[in-house]
Amino acid sequence: MIRFYVRTFLSLLTLLLLVVPVCADDAYDKVRSEFRKLQNSSKQQLYRHNWERVIEGLEQFQRNDQDHPQAASALFLAGRASHDLYRISGVRKDAVSAVKMFDRVHDLYPASSLADDAMLMAGEVLEDPLQRFEEAYRRFSSIVTLYPKGDMFGKAREGAKRLAAHAPKRPTVAAPSRPVAEPGAARLENIRHRDEGDFARVVLDLTGPVGFKANTLPADTSRGFGPRLYVDLEQVQASERLPDRFVMPGRLLQGIRTGHPTSSRLRVVLDLASLKDFRVSQIDRPDRLVIDVFAEGVEDVDEVEVPVSGADSIGAMLSSVPNEPDLAINIPDSTLSKGLRRIVVDAGHGGKDPGAVGPNGLKEKTVTLAMAKKIAAELKKAFKCEVLLTRDDDTFIPLAERTQFANRKNADLFISVHANASRSRSVYGVETFYLNFSKNRQAVAVAARENGMSLKEVGDLELILFDLMANAKINESSRLASEMQKSLVSDLRQKYSRIKDLGVKQGPFHVLLGATMPSVLVETAFISNRREESRLKDSAYQQQVAKAVVKGVRNYARAFKLIATK
Ligand SMILES: [Zn+2]
Repeated sequence: MIRFYVRTFLSLLTLLLLVVPVCADDAYDKVRSEFRKLQNSSKQQLYRHNWERVIEGLEQFQRNDQDHPQAASALFLAGRASHDLYRISGVRKDAVSAVKMFDRVHDLYPASSLADDAMLMAGEVLEDPLQRFEEAYRRFSSIVTLYPKGDMFGKAREGAKRLAAHAPKRPTVAAPSRPVAEPGAARLENIRHRDEGDFARVVLDLTGPVGFKANTLPADTSRGFGPRLYVDLEQVQASERLPDRFVMPGRLLQGIRTGHPTSSRLRVVLDLASLKDFRVSQIDRPDRLVIDVFAEGVEDVDEVEVPVSGADSIGAMLSSVPNEPDLAINIPDSTLSKGLRRIVVDAGHGGKDPGAVGPNGLKEKTVTLAMAKKIAAELKKAFKCEVLLTRDDDTFIPLAERTQFANRKNADLFISVHANASRSRSVYGVETFYLNFSKNRQAVAVAARENGMSLKEVGDLELILFDLMANAKINESSRLASEMQKSLVSDLRQKYSRIKDLGVKQGPFHVLLGATMPSVLVETAFISNRREESRLKDSAYQQQVAKAVVKGVRNYARAFKLIATK
């Protein structure tokens, strides 16, 4: 019995699947031809119920299958029919209905070729007969910014010019520092952006939490558009001080545009060179929306490495500099004049936090303390500067306090010493990190372990990172990490075999977060690998690491003219 029902159900389903699309197309043809018939019969047009039947049919078609290829057209025709009805009836309500339908077309189907037509129609009806000039102006100016290459651009620009006097008022005096927002309404105060070529981040600074919806539009070569990502914010007004268009020579981010498709909805469009993936996250205190965009072509994120003289923006910039004395990087004057006066060396972990533990029981916290002490002694000898340790015994210090200590002491450099670990005992090598958005999953995994966090927590941390990055010395830290890694690999290779160069990487390291001076985290070897565990325990290896760190600091300081070049 059961089998019989199942089979019947399945064949019914097949039948439905085959029939439904045909039905839908038939249905569209039917409602459209009803409209045509009405347009051709001046007698029929005199009766309101004939119009209402046509409009209801078109709307119903769109409601029944909102994703149908003709759904936008049906809704657009419903708007047209309402407008035609108004011209005969002269009833204001009919014109208002037409505007609502046109607005729904560009709200629901922004990728449709009818989206800008619908927006223009809404603008024209709002202007005449409705005489709602400010709203009409919004539609016209939105077309100008949102569809600059569309065929409605010319008419929209004329409309916006015609109604320029009705543009939303810009404040003649400076806006109050705390704008009085309507209840439930937020304001977009600022747009910040950052483009790393394969990754871009746009932050929308808001005055409150918002409802939002994000969608993508594919590239449209006929209109000269790359892929677009748009985010609709409900009940949001853009600050009058904010330009409605940012054009940028970015590699991934081509431009950012904003417009008000309706008076309460703000649309932010990102014009992109390519688009593989994106994510939008809402964060509070302060309220903001973070939009992350990942470029096409980064096929396997895991494979993206940042080599020492790498192809990443910072690495490329640094390695393209012909000779170091002319280094074309902006260094704050204070750093230059101060020179290298104070260095903080941070021995990773300690106390209740042993760090990673090797197969023979060696604890990371023990190794890092021994190495940090040796590094401090060598640095003092080499630079005659003050060197401070975050800890000189086996005590626990929270991660945040370590950089706070360095900030408080006005340190010029911050070097955090660690030993690496992997689930696989065969993994070995040396790598150096600096604080930045992670470029691959391994870097996130290392950061998660060193931070004592889950991968998800690291993801959250990266969101916060954006705000803290403003103070981070990324260029300098990247350079310091490169010099450190180079000297570690070359010096260790002088005395040891099988020293693997794992390169310089960037990641969201909690211990580097908030540091206002150039800062790096050195993973001196893998404690999880038996060979490297016994080396880490060996005082001679520790001493060689210390000498290499000094050499790295020296090369860095020379590059930035912090010490006299010989
Ligand atoms: Zn560690």
